[in-house]
Amino acid sequence: MTPEWPALVAFDLDDTLAPSKSPLPAPMAKALTRLLATTPVAVISGATFDQFARQVVRPLSALPGRRLDRLWILATCGTQCFRYIDGRWRAVFSELLDERERRAAMSALESSAKRLELWPDRSHGDVLEDRRSQVTFSALGQDAPLALKLVWDPDGTKKERLRDEVTPLVPDLEVRIGGTTSIDITRRGRDKAFGMRRLMAETGIAPDDILFFGDRLEPGGNDHPVLSTGVRCASVRGWEDTLGRIGDLDGRSGGRLPEVRDR
Ligand SMILES: [Mg+2]
Repeated sequence: MTPEWPALVAFDLDDTLAPSKSPLPAPMAKALTRLLATTPVAVISGATFDQFARQVVRPLSALPGRRLDRLWILATCGTQCFRYIDGRWRAVFSELLDERERRAAMSALESSAKRLELWPDRSHGDVLEDRRSQVTFSALGQDAPLALKLVWDPDGTKKERLRDEVTPLVPDLEVRIGGTTSIDITRRGRDKAFGMRRLMAETGIAPDDILFFGDRLEPGGNDHPVLSTGVRCASVRGWEDTLGRIGDLDGRSGGRLPEVRDR
């Protein structure tokens, strides 16, 4: 089976396009530039736009021939969308938590983490971050080295305990496991499915005309909700795997996709 060329290709960011919290590796930046020459691209993540700027925008901007006008940045799970219009990045839409929701989320995370002895004595950057549409707890701090993060909670039980402790404290909000060491609080239903639906509404592109790549499509993974949108999904194991899969997506294959291992 050779699927149709998609109208848009969407990607998770961390561990799909780049190592966690790291800039796009040079070969990936080149591959995305080639893809953008023919096809709109969306990148969706729990990260803020500032984080996207460091990880995605800066490496792409350094390359000649890039078509940033074809890039959709869906920050904080698509509650904020940015596009490059008339020479600068603009928010196309954004949905922010109100002051009361943000305060409740921060205090629930802090008190629960302290009670469970998951609050760090010393941290690498902020432990609590107000991302405006999302509040995020990072157990070792936002800027912790990846090697430290990978050993903090390898079986996920610390994050599950913290999520379960925080959930009843903010009944109007949704508490989710984010990345390797993080818990996110948003309005209910603001996961990657919400972001992809928002993108489809904005672009008018049908779900089966979108191909999504993610490294966490398994149940409980932060890409799993995308499966419910009807978007075609391809599971990858790290950015090198993605790179191998999109190497042929740049139009040289005559507008045809290589076979996708859908889940
Ligand atoms: Mg990921």
